[in-house]
Amino acid sequence: MKLRLSQPKVVVDIGRINDLHSIDESDGKIRIGALTSHYEIESSALLGRSCPLLPEVAGKIGDVQVRNKGTIGGSCVHADPAGDWPAAMLALDAEFEIAGPRGNRTVAAKDFFVDMLASAVKPDEILKFIHVPGTAKTVGYVKFAQKASGFAIAGVAAVLDKARKSVAVAVTGVAPKAYRATETESSLRGSELSAATIATAAQKAADGVDPLSDIHASAEYRAHLACVQAKRALELAASRG
Ligand SMILES: Cc1cc2nc3c(=O)[nH]c(=O)nc-3n(C[C@H](O)[C@H](O)[C@H](O)COP(=O)(O)OP(=O)(O)OC[C@H]3O[C@@H](n4cnc5c(N)ncnc54)[C@H](O)[C@@H]3O)c2cc1C
Repeated sequence: MKLRLSQPKVVVDIGRINDLHSIDESDGKIRIGALTSHYEIESSALLGRSCPLLPEVAGKIGDVQVRNKGTIGGSCVHADPAGDWPAAMLALDAEFEIAGPRGNRTVAAKDFFVDMLASAVKPDEILKFIHVPGTAKTVGYVKFAQKASGFAIAGVAAVLDKARKSVAVAVTGVAPKAYRATETESSLRGSELSAATIATAAQKAADGVDPLSDIHASAEYRAHLACVQAKRALELAASRG
């Protein structure tokens, strides 16, 4: 609304729907209410224990005021290409529970972020909950931030699942919407994580992507940053293993 991209006739405040201010865990699955603030996620002991990627990402968003007021649901629905959450949601294979006049539906993270500033939530729907696996997986999130706002010019989330020998790498800030760096992931599939395999795989973090170009960074620089940050995120996650 501030940018005049949207000029609604009616504004409905959903801020006091208490059920949507929540973080709970059941059967190894975590459910986060859409109205949960970044600060509540950053400071959640449950998430620190069961899904440490989320507090790590939350703590890197904006500044204290932004983290106190901003919500994980608002941020995901807004689908800002420079937002931090989409990288974490894609890397964790999160699921989004949406409600509307046609009932409830669940959308996988890979289908949720549709385009720049466009998510799968329709105008007559609200996002209720985000579901992520409770995980002992080894994780890391790093970003090269725009200094004034903290928004990502290139942010990368890495999730290593040693039991399943799988690696998820998701990138935000670089393209019109966040994406999984599938070429990086396939390069690491089946191989030991070493400095050399990580360095080779990270070089592919912008393969097949059409990077954004704006006053903050050229397309070429963003592609370069995606590779640098992918290497750092993988090294960070591997070092925690
Ligand atoms: C100065 C500044 C710095 C920032 N820095 C960062 C940063 O470093 N990283 C980052 O990721 N973000 C950053 N942000 C964004 C911030 O994190 C907010 O989350 C974001 O602005 C959305 O605000 P909100 O959560 O209050 O949602 P709102 O502004 O209330 O909502 C955003 C949009 O989503 C819709 N919406 C909200 N909740 C729901 C729901 N449950 N169901 C359906 N639709 C919904 C609204 O109608 C609206 O269209 C920054 C913002 C500012 C102002």
